[in-house]
Amino acid sequence: MIRIITESTEQTERLGKLIGSLLNSGDIICLDGDLGAGKTTLTKSIVKGLGVDEYVTSPTFTIVNEYEGKVHVNHFDVYRISDVDEMYDIGYDEYMDSESVNIIEWSSIIKEILPEDRIEINIERLEKDNKRKFNINSIGERYKDLVEELKKYEDTSN
Ligand code: ADP
Ligand code: MG
Repeated sequence: MIRIITESTEQTERLGKLIGSLLNSGDIICLDGDLGAGKTTLTKSIVKGLGVDEYVTSPTFTIVNEYEGKVHVNHFDVYRISDVDEMYDIGYDEYMDSESVNIIEWSSIIKEILPEDRIEINIERLEKDNKRKFNINSIGERYKDLVEELKKYEDTSN
């Protein structure tokens, strides 16, 4: 588990761009954390880091938005689904098996159908208003280089 602290929206955006620049085709990023934690903020900057110039918004009502950058990017927000079958209805298996980068906000809601190899990022608000803790956990060899790079930014206090 890697812990990274940011103290502002801008710092989170820098982290997201870095993550985006390190992602490869087929990678899966799972984001969790309370409303307002920073999932969409991080996602927007990851998508930027993947070379997308388009304006990125949260797909709360549509479940998924798609973007074309150095790779194809699918941005899911599964907050409003009431059953995982809704995911299969929109072609979940095809999305996960594709060459895209898949980013999933509120991933814990569909925990039982998440692919095994993935990066999990849990965002916590800390005591100070703009302070956030990113708990980053990766499952699978494919994320080795990304993890090595992120370790450089790890918060090692306490
Ligand atoms: P979520 O998608 O998790 O509901 P958003 O990214 O939509 O959250 O909202 C996060 C809000 O918190 C934004 O208004 C953002 O500017 C603000 N914010 C303040 N500090 C930070 C920080 N360190 N990292 C990310 N967002 C922050
Ligand atoms: Mg959001």
